Amino acid sequence: METLSRPLPSHLLPTSKRYSSPLTSPSFLPRTKRPSTTATPPHHRIQNSKFGSFLDLNPKSKPEFLSHDLPWLDPSVRSRFDLIIIGTGPAGLRLAERVSQYGIRVCCVDPSPLSMWPNNYGVWVDEFEKLGLEDCLDKTWPMASVYIDDHKRRHLNRAYGRVSRKKLKINLLEGCISNGVEFHKAKVWKVNHQEFESSVICDDGNELKASLIVDASGYASTFVEYDKPRNHGYQIAHGILAEVDAHPFELDKMVLMDWRDAHLGNEPVLRAGNSRFPTFLYAMPFDSNLIFLEETSLVSRPVLSYREVKKRMVARLRHLGIRVKSVVEDEKCLIPMGGPLPRIPQSVMGIGGTAGIVHPSTGYMVARTLALAPVLGDVIAECLGSTRMIRGKPLYHRVWNGLWPIENRCIREYYSFGMETLLKLDLDATRRFFDAFFDLDPHYWHGFLSSRLSLMELAMLSLSLFERASNPSRFDIVTKCPAPLVKMVGNLALETI
Ligand SMILES: Cc1cc2nc3c(=O)[nH]c(=O)nc-3n(C[C@H](O)[C@H](O)[C@H](O)COP(=O)(O)OP(=O)(O)OC[C@H]3O[C@@H](n4cnc5c(N)ncnc54)[C@H](O)[C@@H]3O)c2cc1C
Repeated sequence: METLSRPLPSHLLPTSKRYSSPLTSPSFLPRTKRPSTTATPPHHRIQNSKFGSFLDLNPKSKPEFLSHDLPWLDPSVRSRFDLIIIGTGPAGLRLAERVSQYGIRVCCVDPSPLSMWPNNYGVWVDEFEKLGLEDCLDKTWPMASVYIDDHKRRHLNRAYGRVSRKKLKINLLEGCISNGVEFHKAKVWKVNHQEFESSVICDDGNELKASLIVDASGYASTFVEYDKPRNHGYQIAHGILAEVDAHPFELDKMVLMDWRDAHLGNEPVLRAGNSRFPTFLYAMPFDSNLIFLEETSLVSRPVLSYREVKKRMVARLRHLGIRVKSVVEDEKCLIPMGGPLPRIPQSVMGIGGTAGIVHPSTGYMVARTLALAPVLGDVIAECLGSTRMIRGKPLYHRVWNGLWPIENRCIREYYSFGMETLLKLDLDATRRFFDAFFDLDPHYWHGFLSSRLSLMELAMLSLSLFERASNPSRFDIVTKCPAPLVKMVGNLALETI
């Protein structure tokens, strides 16, 4: 832990006169009730600053494609498989690679199986080491840091890494190719089910049949069904991989969270919004002139407006003296978090973003999905690969319960409780919370962030957190937790009935 005393230069900014709610609802996700808003403020003037705004810069990178020779499906030769996987993101490819090694006939359908994944993935290095995928990290930092506020920083003694999308995708694709997975370049627009067989209708007119369809098409999927209201929280972030003149971050530490808000000192409207619905900076410094920077709302409901996130980021970078010379890549991150699991069981199986695997309190998912896909793969192989011929309802029951056994559903309820609590915290309470959280025994905070604690360990973590919390933080817990706690207990009761 370190005390910061370096005040950073503050650049005077004009202030907006009217306040509008920074919360909004994404148009492609279920609408949630919004608080009433006042009129939109006049266009903010941050972009006319002395540094100009990085928002005006167009990303330099162009879409990238792998040059692999994929075994493409010839629908006139074969259109029936054991397993069809919709989507070749990390979840779909990892599952395809694992299931196909049992000799199960797998077809992956995606409009662009060879295009590079767009997201910039960060993981804890030990998570990838455990998966034997440490070769798929293109940069690691021996430590991470968390700026609690303008005076206090915590160093986290846990290595963090940036996933090489290219290496990971090639690793998974090559596994698929050598196990005989076939690929079909198309978008699935409909899934049909009969008693023992399902089919996907593709936008090129082809119908492909299989004993099981797995939907790995990401968060916006419409194939997996829910039987409860989808009251997600949302993580929203704007990220850029940027070439900069200089930046103030140490090269041996990635910045997991920077909760400082001095950059809003001359922006009362932005500051008020940030105090109520805080955002933090996530940063991966690659070298003195190349850095990934992401202004992030950890979780909000309704979702914080994207425009608000970007305005805060402009103010922050200016305050930190970071002048962006060029944007190499940019990303808009919108992740539904928590909320109910899909209906269990149902005829379409899910994995990844479609199956509720995202961590409800952090938005992380890649490492966990890569770890869970083999678990699901084993269950699928047991049902489809054996002579036992488990098909139809017993198959759906086995696969869904294989991915989400009751204990894991209960654990997920706990993480959702964490999310519901975070939703209630303003900036000060959030800072107090993370100060106490990263003070926990590493076994607990590592385990919490990597979704590997048992229910008993989670209970111990809660007690320990309360013990270490400051008095105001205890007050937050006592006053803000009861409603989420009641919700969790209710959901746990429903799960276990
Ligand atoms: C910007 C961003 C950054 C993230 N960063 C991190 C991070 O740092 N660490 C972390 O752990 N998690 C992160 N996540 C969360 C999560 O890990 C990712 O969203 C991850 O990509 C989800 O993997 P997936 O395979 O489920 O879906 P996706 O990666 O979304 O892949 C879905 C695939 O399905 C295809 N598809 C979609 N619809 C159809 C259709 N109808 N027919 C056929 N194919 C279809 C798409 O073309 C795509 O290839 C991030 C998420 C976002 C959005």
